[in-house]
Amino acid sequence: MSAALEVTGLGVRYRRTWALRDCSLSVPAGRVAALVGPNGAGKTTLMHTAVGLLRATEGSVRVAGEAAFVAQDKPLYDDFTVAEMLTFGLRTNRRWDGEAAAARLAGLGIPLKRKVGGLSGGQQAQVAVTLALASRPDLLVLDEPLANLDPLARHDVMRTIMAETAGRELTVLLSSHVVSDLEETCDWLIVLNGGRMQVSGDIEELLDDHLVLTGPVGAS
Ligand code: ATP
Repeated sequence: MSAALEVTGLGVRYRRTWALRDCSLSVPAGRVAALVGPNGAGKTTLMHTAVGLLRATEGSVRVAGEAAFVAQDKPLYDDFTVAEMLTFGLRTNRRWDGEAAAARLAGLGIPLKRKVGGLSGGQQAQVAVTLALASRPDLLVLDEPLANLDPLARHDVMRTIMAETAGRELTVLLSSHVVSDLEETCDWLIVLNGGRMQVSGDIEELLDDHLVLTGPVGAS
């Protein structure tokens, strides 16, 4: 199975702090991978490096194809309407499929004429994920897409991700602090701790082996 993301001996340093060091992992194509680990484990740094926002200090990161990224904080512009956000992509991205995105959002009951800032947190998360998918990436990278959402909204966002990945050649890497939200929807697991990959593999096999905790991972 080919890898959608291949990280080899990756080290990323912010001034004197090594956020990642000798980190190697891969995400097989077509998987929905959960990236978990305690605060400061290096999840955001790994994602930023994967999508080209940060440069590797040492080692390498290889993405097969195009990546789309949804940042944890404020991935959208509050003052624009959903419809306006949908048209921006059209000008800048030739793979852009705004029609499908508009249909999906309308199906979710999200008013396209509403300003993004006027939507609920769950609706904003749906818009952010749907906009990222509209650029038809090969790899979708989501930094804590479920943070600050209630259980129903978390379920809805994961359902959107599942619906969009079914039958598509899309690989997803999403970070979270809690594995229990992800067991049903993710099929690959990567545990980071202290800037290194601790465990990774098929989520069911890891759960069968009792390697995975149900609470925050890596806390000891
Ligand atoms: P969280 O779950 O809290 O978001 P994380 O797993 O995403 O954490 P990172 O944000 O990647 O972890 O941080 C990894 C390490 O790098 C931490 O020690 C953090 O303090 C450090 N770090 C992150 N960003 C910077 C920065 N801009 N400047 C200096 N150090 C940083």
